[in-house]
Amino acid sequence: MTPIDAKLSMRASIQCDVVFDAVRLGPEALLPGAMGLRGPFSCLNEARYGIAWGAMGAARDSYEAALEYAGSRMQFGKPLASYQLTQEKLVNMVLEIQKGTLLALHLGRLKDAGKLHPEQISAGKLNNVREAIKIAREARTILGGNGITLDYPPMRHANNLESVRTYEGTDEVHMLILGQHITGVPAFR
Ligand SMILES: Cc1cc2nc3c(=O)[nH]c(=O)nc-3n(C[C@H](O)[C@H](O)[C@H](O)COP(=O)(O)OP(=O)(O)OC[C@H]3O[C@@H](n4cnc5c(N)ncnc54)[C@H](O)[C@@H]3O)c2cc1C
Repeated sequence: MTPIDAKLSMRASIQCDVVFDAVRLGPEALLPGAMGLRGPFSCLNEARYGIAWGAMGAARDSYEAALEYAGSRMQFGKPLASYQLTQEKLVNMVLEIQKGTLLALHLGRLKDAGKLHPEQISAGKLNNVREAIKIAREARTILGGNGITLDYPPMRHANNLESVRTYEGTDEVHMLILGQHITGVPAFR
């Protein structure tokens, strides 16, 4: 197992190259009660559902950092928050955070009712991560030069969300799951 160094995303967690060579497993290694790939896929569904919430958390933290900064950073004798272009950025962030959070809440209610389908989880993961990374990047612009430092969270969130776009099903894979659901035609290979 070799740790992967020099990462630009998720720097606080360790990922490793794992090599399996001539590994044989007995029946005791099977997931209890799982048949085929259904067991591992159900784990993925849990994680992907959680990401729909987590991405909105990163987006909200980015927005709140930008809002606070915009209220205190003065330019030409007025706070950044008083400029219409800044307000447009903040409003667009709030709209997407509210929509994404409501989507996650809706998925959670379906999950509680035992009615949540995998393609609905794909919609939540794809949409909320995609919008969260846009929000984190937009929040970074409000912070100006300070936004590229470790003093503020938006750029850290944006960089970490690059990983989230890739793990637990890439944007492309979730797009293909939804494409298949809509058209009935699989385009995975
Ligand atoms: C920080 C981090 C943590 C991770 N943690 C885990 C973990 O805990 N467990 C785990 O199992 N994995 C983990 N992964 C791995 C992750 O699941 C894979 O990186 C991901 O599945 C993509 O596989 P790949 O890197 O081999 O890219 P590739 O499969 O080479 O894909 C590269 C690009 O091509 C696209 N692509 C590939 N095939 C197709 C296709 N048929 N049609 C259209 N586009 C396609 C992909 O969407 C992607 O954009 C982690 C990754 C990261 C970055």
